[in-house]
Amino acid sequence: MTDGDAGSDDTAPGPLPDDVVAVRDALVSWYETDHRSYPWRETEDPYEILVSEVMSQQTQLDRVVDAWRDFLDRWPTVADLAAADRAAVVAFWSDHSLGYNNRAKYLHEAAQQVRDDYDGDFPTTPEELSELMGVGPYTANAVASFAFNNGDAVVDTNVKRVLYRAFDVPDDDSEFERAAAKLLPDGESRVWNNAIMELGGVACRKKPRCDEEGCPWREWCHAYATGDFTAPDVPTQPEFDGSRRQMRGRVISTLKEYDELGLDELGPRVRVDYAPDGEYGREWLSELLSDLADDGLVEVDGDDEALARLRR
Ligand code: SF4
Repeated sequence: MTDGDAGSDDTAPGPLPDDVVAVRDALVSWYETDHRSYPWRETEDPYEILVSEVMSQQTQLDRVVDAWRDFLDRWPTVADLAAADRAAVVAFWSDHSLGYNNRAKYLHEAAQQVRDDYDGDFPTTPEELSELMGVGPYTANAVASFAFNNGDAVVDTNVKRVLYRAFDVPDDDSEFERAAAKLLPDGESRVWNNAIMELGGVACRKKPRCDEEGCPWREWCHAYATGDFTAPDVPTQPEFDGSRRQMRGRVISTLKEYDELGLDELGPRVRVDYAPDGEYGREWLSELLSDLADDGLVEVDGDDEALARLRR
């Protein structure tokens, strides 16, 4: 269940659902069942992961794959890169259109730091990793998570969008940090950060694909229940392929104002063109309510004379 306290409802601001474990499990099993495969997701080598992170800062992931493979063919280990001629690394960067050449210089410098300051072994904490040249807090945390399973919760634009929509987390960096940290399962930053970023990249996109991608958080999601899919980086309501989610949102917000309503009382409040026997009539509304009931959001008693109410 989402909220346990008396008087709370699915739209209560701020707090995460009581059953955080169920929320975590749902996301991890969604991610593990089917996710985009990138070769750097199959490795735990910090050098290979660092190269993928630096490359993807300015380049679309699909294009990074070939460049990443070529780079590792040429400089397979951090020691190889440290020993390389810097001009060759920069030339590689330009030839593969990987963005600012400074990133190539910093990567080369970071490899030399690992060789000279850490005896060739990467440091394992976000703090130490961020001492490496060109490695900011985000990249340090990504390497700590994906290589060493030792990171904090990632909070990037995608993650903020997910938290804002799903749990109504206020648009404030410290609130996002707090919610993200609370969700992160202890010692599971590798799978967790991958999973939540995948959710933001595949399902909870600016134009969300909740049903199409089988989002595992629909039953808890505030935006899914209300139909309001705005987010910090999506200031106006995104367009949908159909209006069904908006209609769902209207049903929920109408039922919040009333204890319960019959179909013909609810219908006109959801659609101005509602007519009991029309295209948008009882049959249409019953089907919509039955979807919402399947998702655990409303309860419906009876058939034609049905009464609908929010599930408490
Ligand atoms: S149900 Fe939709 S809006 Fe909610 S978290 Fe999932 S994809 Fe995002």
